[in-house]
Amino acid sequence: MTAPKTALVISAHAADFVWRCGGAIALHAEMGYQVTVACLSFGERGESARLWKEGNSLQQVKDIRRAEAEAAADVLGVHHLACFDLGDYPLHLDQSDKMKLVDLIRKVQPAFMLCHSQYDPYNTDHMYTTQIALECRMIAQAWGHNPGGKVLGAPQLYLFEPHQTEQMGWKPDTFLDITPVWDKKRAAMEHMNGQVHLWDYYTRVAQQRANHFKRNSGGMSGGRDCKYAEGFQSIFPRTVDEL
Ligand SMILES: [Zn+2]
Repeated sequence: MTAPKTALVISAHAADFVWRCGGAIALHAEMGYQVTVACLSFGERGESARLWKEGNSLQQVKDIRRAEAEAAADVLGVHHLACFDLGDYPLHLDQSDKMKLVDLIRKVQPAFMLCHSQYDPYNTDHMYTTQIALECRMIAQAWGHNPGGKVLGAPQLYLFEPHQTEQMGWKPDTFLDITPVWDKKRAAMEHMNGQVHLWDYYTRVAQQRANHFKRNSGGMSGGRDCKYAEGFQSIFPRTVDEL
């Protein structure tokens, strides 16, 4: 029996993986991929405004956000949710934190990785996370890092869709049809009670991306329909045998 395919999502805060690539997670989970999500923080300070307004303590906010992330991960079929609990606004990883992420990357051996846009002036935690993802991916590929361990191949790093897309210099080059798993993504979003205002917003984003999917797949010329999609920007070139 061959080992199952794997994928790794690196999410700065607890909810990011839900809005931005929940469909990709659910779709690949249904295909048999073991999808690991590394949550570097719970977004307890910066992305939990409603919970603070309700008067919760820091620990309560973190506990609520962890529970929401676990429930969402469950709905999406996440194989392993790794919560690093490193704090947010600002997020910071020291050398030992980075090495833990490198260890996780090597352990998962992902066929592809997902992370934030490279630029985000509204949320430096997001672009910092992508810088860390690139750095840790590089270290995991190095034969001289912990020699004898299984080095990483060359998984694509897809950047998922940020908020305020045009301000981030994010330009999608890949559209994924997530229509078959849309109900799971919507259900996962509805576990994020601290950010109710985003449920419908990210439903509309998925509908817009479905339009782009159809425009670029021939769907508008009689091809198959697509009702919901997610967009991604790939960092690395593709290597192909046929165009
Ligand atoms: Zn975030």
